[in-house]
Amino acid sequence: MKRWSRSSLALLSVVAVAVAAGVIACGGDKTPQATAKTPFNGDSALSYARQTVAFGPRIPGTEAARKAGDWMVARLRATADTVIEQKWTHTTQKGEKLPLRNILARFRPNEKNRVLYLTHWDTRPKADADPIAANRTKPFDGANDGASGVGLFLALADQLKKTPPAYGVDLLLVDGEDWGTFGPPDIDVLIGSEYFAAHLPEPGYKPLFGVLFDMIGDKELEIKQEPNSIDAAPEVVQRVWSTAKDLGYESTFVPRAGDYPITDDHIPLIKAGLRVIDVIDLEYPDHEAVMAGQSYHHATSDTMDKISAKSLKIVGDVALTLVRP
Ligand SMILES: [Zn+2]
Repeated sequence: MKRWSRSSLALLSVVAVAVAAGVIACGGDKTPQATAKTPFNGDSALSYARQTVAFGPRIPGTEAARKAGDWMVARLRATADTVIEQKWTHTTQKGEKLPLRNILARFRPNEKNRVLYLTHWDTRPKADADPIAANRTKPFDGANDGASGVGLFLALADQLKKTPPAYGVDLLLVDGEDWGTFGPPDIDVLIGSEYFAAHLPEPGYKPLFGVLFDMIGDKELEIKQEPNSIDAAPEVVQRVWSTAKDLGYESTFVPRAGDYPITDDHIPLIKAGLRVIDVIDLEYPDHEAVMAGQSYHHATSDTMDKISAKSLKIVGDVALTLVRP
């Protein structure tokens, strides 16, 4: 993902004060606790992200991508009730043939009431936004942009196997999110989510709600409500942010709209009629660094030392709580 405009630090500090006041005012039965919120294991998630990165950049068509994909499928076959692979060849605008693979891990596959979580597992071919021009033709690790979502999902799968969820849960790992150019026009991006939207797992597939997780491992994690998501599925935004608040995570899941809409894998699914939102922290590591031209997004600096078990734990607790019995 994806593109931004400018935002206001002044407004952010006003909101921060309001949030702090809210924490004090609410107290009582929803008091944030320092103890573990769910059994979700942030260290496992970080370890899975590290193992994903160790395959090398997951650029479609490479040996590293094939091996990483095989590994994810094997992991998920050990935890999920059903694993479906969607394999196809995408022809890019330039005529290149890209072998791609979506992986769908299903828990309680016969349950009609379902929740869809998705994340992308591929890596952008080049670090084309690197602050250093000489790096812009190099591949990069995609520790946060790609691997963090894989880590989250594999650790979630471990917990869903131990305790079956209240709903059917579909964990969808999409390929080809980051191949091409984010526009407009968008060219050869969001390829896997578009493919899934056109090849749903069964006729009439309609999860109760869906959440896309992207770039959620950042040590400086701060997730605002993405404007396309607020427009398309406000009740899902409300559900996710109120769950985060109940867990004491409102300093990470900041309860206000982000300053710019983001083009990401939720868009093809929204167009297909599914109620899906994007949980993303695009300002990596944070607003000040991005404004200073020091972003790790689509840069060779998107490495494991920039993401944390703590951030993955926060997002994992929210994701698990949303589907827990
Ligand atoms: Zn990206």
